[in-house]
Amino acid sequence: MGSEITEQTLDRRVAVITGASRGIGYAIAEAFAKHGYDLAICGTREETIQKASDMLAATYGVCVKGFVVDVTQADAVKTFIQQVVSDFGRLDVLVNNAGITRDTLALRMKTEDWQVVIDTNLSSVFYASQAALKSLLRAPYGRIINISSVVAAMGNPGQLNYCASKGGIESMTRSLAREIGRKGVTVNAIAPGFIATDMTAELGDAAHARLTDQIPLGRLGQPEDIAAAALFLASENSSYITGQVLHVNGGMYM
Ligand code: NDP
Repeated sequence: MGSEITEQTLDRRVAVITGASRGIGYAIAEAFAKHGYDLAICGTREETIQKASDMLAATYGVCVKGFVVDVTQADAVKTFIQQVVSDFGRLDVLVNNAGITRDTLALRMKTEDWQVVIDTNLSSVFYASQAALKSLLRAPYGRIINISSVVAAMGNPGQLNYCASKGGIESMTRSLAREIGRKGVTVNAIAPGFIATDMTAELGDAAHARLTDQIPLGRLGQPEDIAAAALFLASENSSYITGQVLHVNGGMYM
């Protein structure tokens, strides 16, 4: 699925972005495409991931391949990454972005709500990072960028599962950064505040107004605000930054 890889494209950097059919992942894919990266993106639904990859390839003239991958499945993630390396011949940047919420108070949280959030948000980061490591360590430079959340640092009632998953991501970011720093590969996280996507749309207008009141910059973030941070962390301008969590939240947490 996606545009053809030609001789011309072989010099371009290749980025894998999970959960890029919409929202923050799509905005990151768009920013990377605009800056000449070839892309492999994944989501759970064929129609939406196909539409996203076609749109990016047609608009920016880069090679974009869309894959249907459930990131909770270790073998599927491994196969996905192997396929990307085989199709593109390289992998330079991995953005672990796919994520979900299953919000409810701790007392009412079902084991399934806990497990699916940990599997989707946290275990997936391990699966994809491990599968990508060989190629990243071979690249002239390599980058792993994990999408956390401001609530990893703040905590949030009703999001025990989600906060635990994002806290885990930040710890994993630091550990892996220490393991592979000598090879020139950096591992960083971005902790978005409240960003206007499908994930936050379900909170409703009253909650949006309440949240906006807590944000010094006076607005919800846009997916492009996170994409700009990801582009920086993927670039050579961030070569001496590793094991960090970059907060992009309009000042709601400082
Ligand atoms: P959206 O709900 O808008 O998009 C989620 C993306 O993840 C979709 O592309 C979805 O694919 C994909 N996805 C979900 N489950 C899986 C799965 N099992 N396998 C593969 N792909 C999957 O979310 P956002 O864009 O808002 O969030 C993106 C990331 O940013 C998440 O990690 C989230 O936790 C984080 N974040 C978001 C904030 C916000 O305010 N929006 C704040 C802080 C962090 P499909 O379309 O197929 O369902």
